[in-house]
Amino acid sequence: MAAILGGGLGGLSTGYYLLKNNLNSNNKLKLFLLEATNYCGGWIKSIRTKDYVFEQGPRTIRPKGLQGLNTLNMMQDLGLSEHIAPITPDHPAAKNRMIYVRNNLHILPSTLISAFKKNQPFSKPLIYALFNDIKSPYKELQDDSIYNFVERRFGKEIADYAVSPMICGICAGDAKEISVKFLMKTLFEYEQNHGGVVKGLMASMFQSKSDSDMPLSELAKRSQEEKWNVYTIKGGLKTFPDTLQNYLVENEVNVNLNTKVEELEFIDSSSVALKSSDGNSLTANHIYSSLPSYALAKLVEKQHPELAKDLNEIPFVTVGIVNLYFDIVEPLIQPAFGFLVPPIENAPILGVVFDSCCMPDQKGTVLTVMLGGKWFKEKFGDDVTEDTLLGIATSEVEKILKIKVKPTASNVNILKKCIPQYVIGHYERVDKIREYIAANNLPISLVGCSYDGVGMNDVIYSAKKQVEGSPCTA
Ligand SMILES: Cc1cc2nc3c(=O)[nH]c(=O)nc-3n(C[C@H](O)[C@H](O)[C@H](O)COP(=O)(O)OP(=O)(O)OC[C@H]3O[C@@H](n4cnc5c(N)ncnc54)[C@H](O)[C@@H]3O)c2cc1C
Repeated sequence: MAAILGGGLGGLSTGYYLLKNNLNSNNKLKLFLLEATNYCGGWIKSIRTKDYVFEQGPRTIRPKGLQGLNTLNMMQDLGLSEHIAPITPDHPAAKNRMIYVRNNLHILPSTLISAFKKNQPFSKPLIYALFNDIKSPYKELQDDSIYNFVERRFGKEIADYAVSPMICGICAGDAKEISVKFLMKTLFEYEQNHGGVVKGLMASMFQSKSDSDMPLSELAKRSQEEKWNVYTIKGGLKTFPDTLQNYLVENEVNVNLNTKVEELEFIDSSSVALKSSDGNSLTANHIYSSLPSYALAKLVEKQHPELAKDLNEIPFVTVGIVNLYFDIVEPLIQPAFGFLVPPIENAPILGVVFDSCCMPDQKGTVLTVMLGGKWFKEKFGDDVTEDTLLGIATSEVEKILKIKVKPTASNVNILKKCIPQYVIGHYERVDKIREYIAANNLPISLVGCSYDGVGMNDVIYSAKKQVEGSPCTA
């Protein structure tokens, strides 16, 4: 019997892969999923009305790379192909991604030709960044912040105006703290092994490339043929965890909502006792924890304080999300994905997504304003109200996008400790945590966004790998 802790995307995907792995087994695997709240999906939450969809958490998924293609395989298998709304390269949301610098919106260069031209706010064409890389000395390091690495190789403007806002958009974090391995592991290895990114790139051209042999679904192949940039799900992303949850229930996984796990006791290498808030206890042969690392730390602290300490060292940030709907037929915004604000601007918001441009079937203008992240406490303190965040979001939208009308509908959410920060040393810390688990023969696997990547694709792929790494049988 296996127990999955947490019913967010990590827990649901773990259930999916455990079922798939046991498809041909004669002994049916007994599976329990324990979720603290009254719904599955974790941070994936969509509010649907006849006129608009408000996404309170994630909204777009990347189709590229092994992880992206793996998610599309899962989507097709779950029967979700018809629900997918891709954004192709000719779509304005793919071409127009903006940054807000010195009171102006600037479109970031997205084509090779534009790299040869001077684009505000950059003082030189981006191609100069490559010359900078070729002439800059390299520094031998185990890890570095992504900001330092980019500043050293490509210059300060790229670090300030391209990479820092991108890190805000992906994990609401500070590029000066986030590990270079979070997004640029290969480029960092080029520097460390060849003395620079361009030099490393040249050397890699002569090395044989090993393509993954993962079979691709029709949907994954379509995404490649049509060169999807990102995609969403019609009617909101919540359809995805809902479908996963149904799949688990149909396959006799015991999904327990309103069941907060409060205690774990490791008995031996194949049994662990769980106590939950409903007063029930059960003993499992193996546990797959998809809880945030700080929540798991609480459960293991008594028996394994050293493990709890490492789990607690993974920091998380709080994000304010303000969704706005304007019931006006004329679009109030230029067609684009949205804009991000570089931290150097010291603005009250992190950025705005133009949902009515990225997501189909929205009647009117829909925007999502993101606030806080790494700077939440510094900007808003501990007791900020949702009304205050709504006020800040609407006045920034009025100032930057010149939208003078009041929103017809809005929704505010303060997502406490919602995104883990892969700071310098993160990957070594995760290795240490997993080494401790292996050395102590603890029957637990770690999945979810705390360890192997913060995006939805990473979480799903990590579940797949963890299930393959410790396959649980009946
Ligand atoms: C604002 C925001 C925007 C994002 N945007 C994107 C995006 O556009 N694209 C993208 O790819 N990714 C995005 N992400 C990331 C994506 O949402 C996450 O990778 C993913 O949802 C994480 O899933 P998870 O299962 O690891 O964690 P969670 O969603 O946190 O799930 C953990 C679950 O465990 C439960 N739980 C906690 N403690 C206990 C306990 N003691 N007992 C039982 N259950 C417990 C929780 O209630 C929760 O349901 C975004 C994230 C946020 C917060």
